Parts: sequence; C-alpha cells; structure tokens
Amino acid sequence: MTMGTKGRSKVTAVDVVIVGAGFAGLSAAERLGNMGLSVLVIEGRDRVGGRSYSGEVAGVKVDLGATWVSERHTAIRDLALRLGCSTTPQFHEGLNLLWMAGQRRTWTGTLPMVEPVDLEDLGRVQVELDKLLETIDVDAAWNSPNASELDSISFGEWLDQQQAGVSTRTLMTMASKVQWGCNPGDVALLHVLRYIQAVGGLDHMLAVEGGSNQDRITETTQEIAKRLAEHLGDKVVLDTRVGRISQDDNGVTVHTDDAVINAKYAIVAAAPEHRSYIEFEPALPEKAEGLIRTWPMGALSKAFVAYDKPFWREAGLSGESLMDTGTAFITFDVSPDNGPGVLMVFCVPSVFDGFSPEIRRSRVTKQLVDLFGAQASEPIDYVDHCWGTEPFAPGGPHPAVAPFASTSYGSALTEPHGRIHWAGTETAGEWVGTMNGAVLTGLDTAEQVARRLGVEDAQA
Ligand SMILES: Cc1cc2nc3c(=O)[nH]c(=O)nc-3n(C[C@H](O)[C@H](O)[C@H](O)COP(=O)(O)OP(=O)(O)OC[C@H]3O[C@@H](n4cnc5c(N)ncnc54)[C@H](O)[C@@H]3O)c2cc1C
Repeated sequence: MTMGTKGRSKVTAVDVVIVGAGFAGLSAAERLGNMGLSVLVIEGRDRVGGRSYSGEVAGVKVDLGATWVSERHTAIRDLALRLGCSTTPQFHEGLNLLWMAGQRRTWTGTLPMVEPVDLEDLGRVQVELDKLLETIDVDAAWNSPNASELDSISFGEWLDQQQAGVSTRTLMTMASKVQWGCNPGDVALLHVLRYIQAVGGLDHMLAVEGGSNQDRITETTQEIAKRLAEHLGDKVVLDTRVGRISQDDNGVTVHTDDAVINAKYAIVAAAPEHRSYIEFEPALPEKAEGLIRTWPMGALSKAFVAYDKPFWREAGLSGESLMDTGTAFITFDVSPDNGPGVLMVFCVPSVFDGFSPEIRRSRVTKQLVDLFGAQASEPIDYVDHCWGTEPFAPGGPHPAVAPFASTSYGSALTEPHGRIHWAGTETAGEWVGTMNGAVLTGLDTAEQVARRLGVEDAQA
C-alpha cells in the first residue's frame, strides 16, 4: 500500500501545505484536492492517523488511541462508511463492576452509583454542573458570560466547593483521567465545561448506548485514516517534521529537515502544544505563543489483554469496570465475534509508563484477577501503548488546560496568523476533542483557505 513518500529533498510548490496527517489534516487535504487545488500533507511520524493508532493482540486489531464514535458523530461516520469501514456496537450486556475502597460490586446503567445516597449526591452535583453547562458558548468558551470566574478555578476545586461525596469525586476523577489525561485538580473548570457541553452533556460523554462510547470502528479508527491517505497517495509525506514556516505577502515557505515547500497558504493541523515544534517567521503574536505554552497535552495509557474466550460473559459480566485504585482504572470488552476475549484497559500513566513491559503486564493482569477472578491470570497475549511517552507529538487524549489559560489564550486556537490557518480537534466547537471534531475542523479550514484563494465553488 502506498501511503506517501518518505522524505523529499527538493523544492516543491503547491497551493496549500498541511502540517499533520491526523483526521483534521487528511480531511482538509481531501477537500482542497476535490476543489482542484494542489496540496501536500507533511507528517512527522512514520504513520498517518495521529492519535488514532492500531495495534494487534492475539491476532485481533485494536485501537491503541481513539476508539469510539457516537451516533451523532456523523462526519467521521460518513468518512468511515465512504472508505468501506463499518461500525461494531460496544459490547454492553450484563453486569458492570466497580472496585471502590477495596470492595468489588456490580452495577448496571451509565453511572456506577451502587448506594442511593451516592446517586443522590451525584444528581445534586450534576444539577449544578448542568446549570453551568447551559452558560457555555462551545464555539468560544472564553467568551461565555461568566468565563473569567469559571476559568479561575480547577475542576477539582469546584468539586470541593460543591462538597462532592467520595463516590461522585471518584467518578469525576475517572472521567477527568480518561478525558483530559489528568486529575481534576490539574484542569480548569471552564475547559472541562467546554468539552462536556460540546459533546452533548455528561451523560452523553459517559454513556455507551446512545452516548459517546456507543460504537467502535470494526477495522480500527486508524484504518479510516490509512484509507484516506491511500486515496491522497503521494500528497502525504511521512517521517518528515516541519521545523519552520516563514511567510510574506506572496505566500508561505515550509521547511523540513531536507525539503522546502512553497505554498500560497499553510494549515497547521496539530494540537496547540505541538505547534511549538515550528519556528514561525514572522513570530506568532503573544496570544498564540501563550496558547502553546499553556495548553499542554494530558497523558493516558491503554493496555489490551487477550484470553482464549470472553470468559466473563459466561458469568453475566459485561467486561466494563471502574476502579478507584491501582494502575488500571477502566475496562471494556472489545472482543471480536467468535474470537478470543479482549479487554481494553485504561491505565494511569504515572504508575504505568515508566515501568518495564513485564511489570506493566503483570500489574494490569493482577487487577483483572481482582475484578474477573482467577481465569484472568493467564492471558494469551498483551499489548499496551503509552501516549505520554510517544517519541514525537506525545500526549493525549486532549490538552490538560489549567485555570486562566482558556480566557487568556483560547481565542488564539483558530485566529489565522497571516497565511497560516489552524485546524485540529482542539479548534472545534461542537465535538471538540473527538475524531468527529477533527474531521469537521479540517473541512472548515479547507473552506476558509479556498475562499482566500478565490475558489468560489467550494462544496458546503
Ligand atoms: C488514548 C486516546 C483515546 C481516545 N479516544 C477517543 C475516542 O474514543 N473517540 C474519539 O472521537 N476521540 C478519541 N480520542 C481523541 C482523538 O484521537 C482526537 O480527537 C483526534 O484523533 C485528533 O485528530 P487531529 O487530526 O486533530 O490531531 P492528531 O491526531 O493529533 O494529528 C496531528 C498530527 O500532526 C502531526 N504533527 C504535529 N506537529 C508536526 C510537525 N511539526 N510536523 C509534522 N507533523 C506534525 C502529529 O504527528 C500528528 O500525527 C482519543 C485519543 C487518545 C490519545
């Protein structure tokens, strides 16, 4: 399969050069190409897909990065369908497990509240959260009516103010770790509200059926990006890092280690922190610099543990679980039909990433034994991936943005710098943080650039 060319040493000229071959960059390239414009996508990694990356365990393809699409993620779904990919419902039958305060319990539904008093407490906090969500402008959260106040405290401080009970706090901590790759004390309330509101509320964010975690892409999410890149052919260049972009009244010049690309416009489709790899000439304005400095990526790790069969199903368990202590904190059953049993496990980077693969495997397996019993002690295969220690463009799933950073610098997410436009899921309004958001920003930014190029017959 040809996905692109490795390295270029000559001077190339195109209409638009795009930095980053994630869903945003690839979608922008396809849209611009369909409008008859010449494009080149430059990707620093040796693969396309960015935060979508396939692995394999016991012969089963798994998503080491992005996994789920909701029913309402129509842009990524349409793309997947068009490229011959299909969806598989997230397995969700049976009892879920909760490991809290050293006790193993079962639960059903979306929220792991076993005791009525805990459910009541969560309901109370959620009512307060919903009131704040209503005030959020998802397209520009920093312009919301009470943005300054909401951006002056962390999510953790807000939970303290609400006197959230232990169970509510534990659930919110898990949500924070899996969504922003950090603890609630390390992420601003405003940033959290922006992401929750943009994906349709807390229930939608956490739910399987009818929620964000409803379906997986059968072929893996990276496969969508690979097929899109295949269509783009030699318009996608891998293993090539953009280190400098200069511009004048006539166009932009993009510099890699061994190539120079002249273009009329550039689209940088990378997370805010990763914009720092590029030296801009003229320099970025202070707000755009501040954005890069204060929007660091969070970190999250994932492990996949395979067994001969999904034995937990025989015990009436869904394979879905939440744990308040240990290395692993969330599990899901991602077994294929008629194949081995595969558990997808979210792990806490601080007690995972720095350890050897053997220790990582044994720690995860031990927790699975606590949850699912002795049968979990003998996996047939194991694979994991630590997003925080990726050699290039590390971090994920999303930026862990601390207080004051959104109101100070958020407006720089999308503000073009001369002939340089920005795309990527962080720049999305609705669906920020999702693959769907990434696709939409790629398409929108392509439209903006096409308009500046005077291409009037752009597709809506
Ligand atoms: C563990 C994990 C789980 C997730 N789960 C889900 C999920 O279930 N559902 C969902 O919708 N989303 C999920 N996400 C988020 C989803 O992956 C992202 O929202 C989406 O993939 C972002 O796409 P993007 O194109 O905006 O950015 P990216 O995918 O980050 O692509 C940007 C690309 O730019 C490249 N780049 C950066 N700087 C340079 C440079 N200077 N030169 C050349 N190349 C450069 C990077 O290498 C990267 O490939 C998850 C992410 C992670 C990490």
